[in-house]
Amino acid sequence: MMRSADDVLLLIDLQYDFMPGGALAVARGDEVVPVANRLAQGFAHVVLTQDWHPAAHVSFAANHAGRKPFETVALPYGEQVLWPTHCVQGTQGAALHRDLDVPHARAVIRKGHHAEVDSYSAFLEADRTTPTGLAGYLREMGAKRVYCCGLATDYCVAWSALDARAAGFETVLIEDASRAIDLNGSLAAAWAQLQAAGVTRAQSTDVLRGAL
Ligand SMILES: [Zn+2]
Repeated sequence: MMRSADDVLLLIDLQYDFMPGGALAVARGDEVVPVANRLAQGFAHVVLTQDWHPAAHVSFAANHAGRKPFETVALPYGEQVLWPTHCVQGTQGAALHRDLDVPHARAVIRKGHHAEVDSYSAFLEADRTTPTGLAGYLREMGAKRVYCCGLATDYCVAWSALDARAAGFETVLIEDASRAIDLNGSLAAAWAQLQAAGVTRAQSTDVLRGAL
């Protein structure tokens, strides 16, 4: 079935650097690509995101002398996890997976392009004030419900889902179309936050048959 025009599928960061073998690989991240393709067949309105950093990005451990990936640093906007260098603008690692088959996707939101601020969320940068423009776009398109999935569940997908909800959209996170990094309990913490915010936890089969 094709869903209502009010429903938007948001596919988060299905890029090579988050796939097995990539610079910031999410375990079994490639398994979500065929699920995302199946889901996309049921949505007239699909939006993609790409993590899209300048080489000097503040989230890269390599840009902090003496620091290693997965340590944290205090930045003006709060605690920041330091990541391996990933999704540098224009590189192959930042490209969308070749098997992603969503030719009807309408928009691609590129996030994390400001060198001094990270952006896990597709809606708001990590300073929690700078918008990406996605909420305004979705409102203007008449979207009511946002279905989020992709990589990684506990970072970019969760933050995007929380911000979608905060922006007033009914929000669903499709668990089996996402994979997690799970750093220091981050996955359980994310699910607790999502539940508290009223984000619906779903499986792709339920979304595909229109139950959610
Ligand atoms: Zn990033």
